[in-house]
Amino acid sequence: MTAPIRLAVVGLGKIALDQHLPAIDGTSKFELVATVTRGGTSSVPGVPCVSSIEELAESGIAVDAVSICTPPQVRYDIAHFAIERGWHVMLEKPPGATLAEVVALREAAGKAGVSLFATWHSRFARSVEPARNWLKGRTLKSAKITWREDVRVWHPGQEWIWAPGGFGVFDPGINALSIATRILPEALFVTKSELFFPSNRGSPIAALVSMRDCNGAPVEMDLDFRQEGPQHWDIEVETDAGGLKLSQGGAVLSIAGVEDETEDHALEGEYPGLYSRFAALIRAEVSDVDVSPLRLVADAFLCGQITMVEAFDW
Ligand code: NAP
Repeated sequence: MTAPIRLAVVGLGKIALDQHLPAIDGTSKFELVATVTRGGTSSVPGVPCVSSIEELAESGIAVDAVSICTPPQVRYDIAHFAIERGWHVMLEKPPGATLAEVVALREAAGKAGVSLFATWHSRFARSVEPARNWLKGRTLKSAKITWREDVRVWHPGQEWIWAPGGFGVFDPGINALSIATRILPEALFVTKSELFFPSNRGSPIAALVSMRDCNGAPVEMDLDFRQEGPQHWDIEVETDAGGLKLSQGGAVLSIAGVEDETEDHALEGEYPGLYSRFAALIRAEVSDVDVSPLRLVADAFLCGQITMVEAFDW
């Protein structure tokens, strides 16, 4: 039997507590040996907690890998330090605040001979691979991405999301792009983008992004953090041979209007899938760093027309 991979989790916020710790707890492939929080304390019983990645290195705790669940703006230094230590690294999405820093991490991991995994959890939603398989061999006619959620419900008090490098509405929006870049038959590029910035914030609260694939098929994306009432995480695709709709963030697939009947529509399968993949990458001594969703976001900012809107306060 292979020994479990000794793992430290860095940044115990919402996603670490809601998804990472239960997924780690539920697998024999990893053993949680430490947590790293800015305060140096955590609520995980029986697991040592330190206050920085440097302190972790000095602690003498034997570590093989780290999972970094901080906001993107602070991730590069932590990841780079871990790679230099010879630790394998898993990055929450988005993998960094800029494209170049993620590419630099990929190169550093290659040189150090460790595995770097830039995760896209939405790609592990249960209907994403069936949608990809159905679309294989079909020609895209058009697609529409609607990702509208209430920031007050899903990101309460997360100030980092509003800071430059926090992505604003692209924090969830990049999940849609991680699915679109996985399932659509051809690569996409941005042709037009309108970004709506609250007058008191450094990242957008809404965005309208026009893309196309290399055959000219249009893909429109509507992102909005101001959505109240029903929430929408949908991708509708029309092809030369019928259409499909992925809803609930990739959990539910409808083909020709008929919904797949499986009951497991929650986020639950995604994080066990991510850890399984991370273990496989480590065992195979390879990395998985796909920057295509981040590249589309960067391009949406690069050619974005900025419109100032009402100030946002929690
Ligand atoms: P969060 O609740 O704000 O947690 C982030 C944690 O990172 C903080 O609790 C803090 O943990 C640590 N941290 C280190 N430096 C920080 C800094 N300068 N500012 C703020 N926090 C800092 O955020 P989250 O929702 O868990 O999101 C973290 C990452 O996961 C983001 O990239 C997000 O896109 C991704 N993600 C989130 C969700 C979701 O539903 N929330 C889903 C999927 C992915 P300590 O106090 O322990 O140091």
